[in-house]
Amino acid sequence: MIIAEMKPIEEILEMVRDYQRILIVGCKGCVAVCSTGGPKEVSVLGSLLRIARKKEGRDIVVDEGSLDRQCEPDFVDMIADKVAGSDAVLSLACGAGVQLVAERFPDKVVLPGCNTTFLGVTEELGVWSERCAGCGDCILHKTAGLCPIARCSKQLLNGPCGGSMNGKCEISKDVDCVWQLIIDRLGRLDRLEVLEEIFPVKNWSPAGHGGPRKMVREDLRS
Ligand code: SF4
Ligand code: SF4
Repeated sequence: MIIAEMKPIEEILEMVRDYQRILIVGCKGCVAVCSTGGPKEVSVLGSLLRIARKKEGRDIVVDEGSLDRQCEPDFVDMIADKVAGSDAVLSLACGAGVQLVAERFPDKVVLPGCNTTFLGVTEELGVWSERCAGCGDCILHKTAGLCPIARCSKQLLNGPCGGSMNGKCEISKDVDCVWQLIIDRLGRLDRLEVLEEIFPVKNWSPAGHGGPRKMVREDLRS
């Protein structure tokens, strides 16, 4: 899922400083699962904004709502009335959701309430870690299901650098060397011969280095 975290309240307060009627829009997708931008967080943020404005002696009207997915136009269009009644929309979705709201309502100020960080997994309650960098040409079948693009600090594709020590990456003793994990797992699977294949120079254009990416599935288009 997409992992995000809410911006510091001071930054959010500064963003909404000039607006009186704020619509906070959450998303019940990834950002709800990582407890950042779901209905609960929308409600808490709404209360914080009201309290902060009250302390300043200034009026604020905070409306709230959450969409099943803020990255789908059909859902976004459902809040048109609420958007029309606001001075600014504060989105708690990922960066994609924020931008879709801005696209669907081109004359409305749309503000990001979260910092979108990475594609990752839940390790335990309150701990998420990166797993995929969206490179557009997955090689997990060659790396024992562990991604050196997202998880190697140098994005090395042909084995570890010289800095790996005791299974840890040279950047921090708290970061596993993913190449050590790859080698260990291939060893357990009795597939170490996979490492004898030299990876060709990677074509990074599907990873976005060829410009903004777009996917078109003709079979799904009407
Ligand atoms: S190889 Fe590419 S698509 Fe596969 S997990 Fe890594 S970054 Fe994601
Ligand atoms: S120590 Fe391992 S994870 Fe860190 S940069 Fe080198 S190969 Fe990559």
